[in-house]
Amino acid sequence: MLGLKGATVRFGGRAVLDAVDLEVAEHEVVCVLGPSGSGKSTLLRAVAGLQPLDAGRVTLAGHDQNGVPAHRRGVGLMFQDHQLFPQRDVGANVAFGLRMQGAAKGERDGRVGELLELVGLPGAARRAVAGLSGGEQQRVALARALAPRPRLLMLDEPLGQLDRSLRERLVVELRELFGRLGMTVLAVTHDQGEAFALADRVVVMRDGRIAQSGTPLEVWQRPADAFVARFLGFEN
Ligand code: ATP
Ligand code: MG
Repeated sequence: MLGLKGATVRFGGRAVLDAVDLEVAEHEVVCVLGPSGSGKSTLLRAVAGLQPLDAGRVTLAGHDQNGVPAHRRGVGLMFQDHQLFPQRDVGANVAFGLRMQGAAKGERDGRVGELLELVGLPGAARRAVAGLSGGEQQRVALARALAPRPRLLMLDEPLGQLDRSLRERLVVELRELFGRLGMTVLAVTHDQGEAFALADRVVVMRDGRIAQSGTPLEVWQRPADAFVARFLGFEN
């Protein structure tokens, strides 16, 4: 479904994505873990077409995406900083991608209602975005990313600002939703518990490279090196 080959992004001479090779199969849920600054968001932005590559390539369903603009890639991205439309209400934000797809009003309203319920904000469609807390905005952004059911859904720290009980509930519900809809998902998280619960496969990044890729069990039982082991909290 998704392929990266030698994907490289440099800022000021430093490779923040350093010749990354990664494949994500259709219906696979992959979680990217790694320290702050390791290139996780840059990886998602490169796949989404928001960050040009300095070398290498991105393919979607076998097609090279070089020169394909973001809105033509058919991928959804939930940004780490949400980027909601502040002047539109919650419902309009969640319905945004559905409107782009040309969905009828009845379908849009139905999907918006379901998703707001899923993220724990039932009946919030008419609320003003400006009046929401950070965690509420994060949940609206998550609903907005899920709504159009993109062929590849990418989530950047989707649950980062939520408290533990809400996070644990949403992890279970997202896992169920991804399975039920057969979605292909690439999600970034700081939280290894979240990654291990959500993912078919975990990718650990370090300094713009992939330090390890494997099932949660493989990574847990056999960390590839001292960095991964330390990152998972096995050593000091
Ligand atoms: P975090 O967990 O803090 O979100 P991250 O793994 O998502 O970190 P990135 O945002 O991908 O990290 O950034 C990787 C590196 O690239 C960082 O050192 C960052 O400062 C640098 N970087 C990212 N975007 C730019 C930019 N537009 N210009 C210059 N440097 C950038
Ligand atoms: Mg980031």
